[in-house]
Amino acid sequence: MQPTELSAIELVAAIRRGDLTARACTEAFLDRIASLDGSINAFLAADRGAAVAQAEKIDARRSAGDPLGPLAGLPVAVKDALCTVDMPTTCGSRMLAGYQPPYDAHTVARLRAADAVIIGKTNMDEFAMGGSNENSAYGPVRNPWDLERAPGGSSGGSAACVAADLAPVAIGSDTGGSIRQPAGLCGVTGFKPTYGRISRRGLVAFASSLDQIGPLARSAADCALVMESIAGHDPGDSTSLAAEVPAYTKLLDEPLTGLRIGRVAAHYGAGLDPEVAAGVEAAFAAFEAAGATIHEVELPHAEYGIPTYYLIAPCEASSNLARYDGVHYGHRAEPERGHRAEPERGHRAEPERGHRAEPGEPAAAYVGEFDSPLVEMYCRSRAEGFGPEVKRRIMLGTYALSAGYYDAFYAKALRVRRLIQQDFLKAFETVDLIAGPVSPTPAFKLGEKTGDPLAMYLVDMYTVGTNLAGIGGISFPCGFTAGGLPIGFQLQGPALAEPLLLRAAHQYQQQTDWHLRRPALAT
Ligand code: GLN
Repeated sequence: MQPTELSAIELVAAIRRGDLTARACTEAFLDRIASLDGSINAFLAADRGAAVAQAEKIDARRSAGDPLGPLAGLPVAVKDALCTVDMPTTCGSRMLAGYQPPYDAHTVARLRAADAVIIGKTNMDEFAMGGSNENSAYGPVRNPWDLERAPGGSSGGSAACVAADLAPVAIGSDTGGSIRQPAGLCGVTGFKPTYGRISRRGLVAFASSLDQIGPLARSAADCALVMESIAGHDPGDSTSLAAEVPAYTKLLDEPLTGLRIGRVAAHYGAGLDPEVAAGVEAAFAAFEAAGATIHEVELPHAEYGIPTYYLIAPCEASSNLARYDGVHYGHRAEPERGHRAEPERGHRAEPERGHRAEPGEPAAAYVGEFDSPLVEMYCRSRAEGFGPEVKRRIMLGTYALSAGYYDAFYAKALRVRRLIQQDFLKAFETVDLIAGPVSPTPAFKLGEKTGDPLAMYLVDMYTVGTNLAGIGGISFPCGFTAGGLPIGFQLQGPALAEPLLLRAAHQYQQQTDWHLRRPALAT
């Protein structure tokens, strides 16, 4: 078998035994990226030299009999929202084109400490805002199951690269579904842990009260392996949880006898694709056959999930993205040709690439009256650096937070968020997990929803509740449509129920082979 066909657990074991070198493993994935990613566009950066050098170091340490980390030699792709000291971090935005962070995100540092090999940075919707990857400034990712379709988003590159065997494991981030939804549409396993389970330090912030990092892999067992290295408290993130990290991989085997799974009748209303509904029903039956019992539960406020999320997330984003002004961070509008600012009396240092325009001077991408040259520079830099969806969210969030509207929109959304959270707490009094679809439809065509932001937002109807409640969720394939597209199944669990979520998904994957199917890709 090719290394690219092995699971993360098998790869780590083969490298540890000496059946496979870390170098050969890394090169196998890099070669596959070189031959296939031209048509998928899952990667924004890959540093072959650095990855191979890192793998060689691991091989040398193994030969010398030195101790190796738990992920020794495992190639890992990382969403471009996580800072990497040795690769640019663009967050899918023109705003951060070429940005080279001065430090590694906590998750990246943990992966390196575990001796994983970071093979590249994955494409994503700009600033993680989107559900199709079409908001990337670097072109959309294509779904490996059908190159005319979207892989989902915002971690679309991470999901597509695992689906196409370009990486055994990828890291994503999930603010309203961005790990689970692309995993579902690409037929891979995606795990969004409890809020705070993994440190957000070095994750470019979108909506800080919702953002959570997690793994995407072929199986729940591979996700468990990676979780053991990246979960845990970090004093550098005040919202990271101090709870001990269980040995997830050791907790997968217990059978599901007696597990109570909740089913939400309201999930099956209009808008749910009948093939998706059938796939999900078959998964419920498989869980029942494995010893679980299914119970109807209600999440009465779930219908307000989308409006609540699409107020809270843009509000937080409008604040988080204020730092991209061309001075603190991000793209700075270039001076217009021919214009030279006159130094003022009393020396003031000029910005390096700066432009000090006169008020009223027309700007490249922003035409208007400016209070000062500095304001003009901010306006033009932001107008040029951000794409349309990010601008839409900043405007929505700024409006909802503004005096006079704050109580009607933001404060109200916070109150509804609490009701949504209480729905879950109440449901978890009678069931251990809640299950259902990940997305209302299978992967949609590229361009199908780009003209209708609301249609794109509705794709998140089953995923945003998890983030609003701060709990965990896992998605994995439970079948295919007649047209050959993966259907996703989602399990949601109470806070810190990671071991149960991983075990339930693993037990399902022990009895089914949907997660092992691979798209036919011409190399
Ligand atoms: N699709 C959702 C959005 O556009 C979720 C994004 C995410 O989880 N990062 O906001």
